[in-house]
Amino acid sequence: MAVALRMSTLYAPTLREVPVEAELASHRLLLRAGMIRKAASGIYSFLPLGWRSIAKIEDIVRQEMDAIGSQELLLPVVQPAELWIESGRWTVYGPELARLKDRHGRDFCLGPTHEEIITALVRNEIRSYRDLPVSLYQINVKFRDEVRPRFGLLRGREFIMKDAYSFHADQQSLQEHYDAQARAYGRICERLDLVYRPVVADSGQIGGSVTTEFMALADAGEADLVYCECGWAANVEAASAVVSRDPRSTSPVEISRHATPGIKTIAELASAFGIPEHDTVKTMAGKTPEGRLVYLCVPGDRELNPVKANTAVPGIELLDDDDFDRFRIPKGSLGPVNPPEGTMVVADTSLRDEVSWAVGANEDGFHLFGAMPGRDFTVDLWADLVVARPGDGCPICGQTLSGARGIEVSQVFQLGTKYSEAMGARFTDENGEERPFVMGCYGVGISRSLAAVIEQHCDESGIIWPISVAPLEVAILPLSDDDEVIALAEGIWKDLAAAGVEVVIDDRDERAGVKFADADLIGWPYQLIVGKRGVADGVVELKDRATGNRLTVSIPDAVEHMTELVISERARFAH
Ligand code: ATP
Ligand code: MG
Repeated sequence: MAVALRMSTLYAPTLREVPVEAELASHRLLLRAGMIRKAASGIYSFLPLGWRSIAKIEDIVRQEMDAIGSQELLLPVVQPAELWIESGRWTVYGPELARLKDRHGRDFCLGPTHEEIITALVRNEIRSYRDLPVSLYQINVKFRDEVRPRFGLLRGREFIMKDAYSFHADQQSLQEHYDAQARAYGRICERLDLVYRPVVADSGQIGGSVTTEFMALADAGEADLVYCECGWAANVEAASAVVSRDPRSTSPVEISRHATPGIKTIAELASAFGIPEHDTVKTMAGKTPEGRLVYLCVPGDRELNPVKANTAVPGIELLDDDDFDRFRIPKGSLGPVNPPEGTMVVADTSLRDEVSWAVGANEDGFHLFGAMPGRDFTVDLWADLVVARPGDGCPICGQTLSGARGIEVSQVFQLGTKYSEAMGARFTDENGEERPFVMGCYGVGISRSLAAVIEQHCDESGIIWPISVAPLEVAILPLSDDDEVIALAEGIWKDLAAAGVEVVIDDRDERAGVKFADADLIGWPYQLIVGKRGVADGVVELKDRATGNRLTVSIPDAVEHMTELVISERARFAH
C-alpha cells in the first residue's frame, strides 16, 4: 500500500501570485507550489510536499552511500569551539561560522561542516590499520551565515547536506574510495535526472588539493564553467586554461612616457590611444602576509583570478583604498617599471613573449608604452593568474573551450592528513608505527539539489518532476461533483495506492481550472482526469506532465495502465 493523500486535507498552500522576492524559477515555484516557506533570510521551513521530495533525494543518496560501504550516523549540529581551535579553523573560518555561548560562557558553533567533530570521534575509537578504511556519512542540517543568502534553497544559511568522511591508512586506499564516491555522485545526479558535469575545482576553505565538483548545468547557476569536447571541464575559479595568445609585439621599441590625465582604467586608456584592450597590461596591487607590496600584471582584457594569485603568492591580499594611501601608489597608473623599492612583480605567463607593454608609469596621470621585460623592468615570478574563459585553449588537448553556468550540487575532496595531523588523529600501522589518518570528505547539497532539479525541470505553468523526486507520482482530478464521477475517482485512488503507486486525489470543491492549474504547478508526473462525459463513454484521460501528451484509457484498464507506466518510469531512475 503506497501513500494516498487528499488535496482537501493536504497542507500545500499554493499561491497564484508570483512572489516578488523570488528571482529564480526554483525559488518562485517552491513557494508557489506550497513546498517551502521562509522563516528568515536563508532559513526555510519545508512543508509536507517539499519534505516528501527532500526525503526522496535523501533515499537516493542513502542507497548510493550504502552501496559503496559508507555507514550512516548522526553528528551533533552544535559543536564545541575547542575542536575548531585544534584544527585552526576557529580563527580562519570568519563570520560564516555562527558562534554561540552556553550558559557557562563556553564557546560553541553551529556546524557548517563536520571534519572536526568526526576526526575527534574517530581518533578516540580507531587505533589500528586493521580497522581501516572506514567511511561514515550523515544527512543533517548545516548552518553557514552566508554573506548573501539568496535564490531560495540554492544558497541558504540553514540547509540540508549529506556529508561523508573517510579514513585510510594510505593514499591508495583514499584514492579508491574517492573514485567510488565520485562514481556514486554521478549516479546520484543521473537518478535526480540532472544534466551535470564533473569539473576540476578549487578546494577553497576546506583545504586539500584533489577535488571535483558536480555541476548541474543551469543558467541560474552561480558558477562559471569552461569545458572541452575531450571531456575536461573546470570551474573558472580553478581552470588553468591555456590562454591562446600569439605575441602581439614581436620587435622591441623604445620606451616612451605619455601624459594620460584622468585615465584610470584600461578601457579609458585603450579608447584614448585607439588600441585594443588586449594590447595593454593591467597591473593590480596586493600585499603578502608580511606586508610586502606585490604587483600583479595581466593582459588588459583579462580578469585576475584571486585563487590563482593566492597560489602564486600564498596569503596575498588585494589592497584596499587605505592600503593605496599607505603605500603611496597611484591606483589608476600602476605598472612594473620602477615600482616602489622592494615590490615583487608577478606577471601572467601569457605575457612572457610580449616585448612591448603598455603600462601605468607609477605616476598619477602618466603611462608608458613599449616597456620591455628584462630591459626596462624585472618580472620576479611568471605565473598563471587569469580567469579562464570560453575561447581559451584546453590544457589537456588544446581545443577551444566552451562556457556554461552551473549549480554546484556536490563535491568530493581528498583532504590528506590536514585534519588528522592538526588534531592528532593517528593509527598504528603494520610496523607498529603511529601515522596520521589519510582522509577524504564528500558533500551533497540535498536541499540545493531539490532546487537544481526544478531549475532544469519546469515551464511557465510550474514544476515538471522526474518521478524519482516527485512528492507523489499520480494525481486524480475528478472534475465534477457528480456521484458517479466521485465514486469512480475514489475507486481508482484506492486501487492505485493498493497497487503501490503514490497517489493524491483532488477532492476539493474547486473549479476544473483551479485543479488543472494546481496540478501543473505542483508538477505531479501524471494526472488522471475523471470527467462526467468521459465516464458516460467509459473512459478517463491520462495526462503526462512532461510531454503534455493526453491519452484516453478505458475505465477497466486505467489502474493497470497507470501502474505499469509508473513502474517503468521508476525503473529509469532505479539504483
Ligand atoms: P558554495 O561554493 O556554493 O558556497 P561550497 O563549496 O562552500 O558551496 P561545500 O562545502 O562543498 O560547499 O558543501 C557541499 C555541498 O553543500 C555543496 O556542493 C552544495 O551543494 C551544498 N551547499 C553549500 N553551501 C550551501 C548553501 N549555502 N545553501 C545550500 N546548499 C549549500
Ligand atoms: Mg564545494
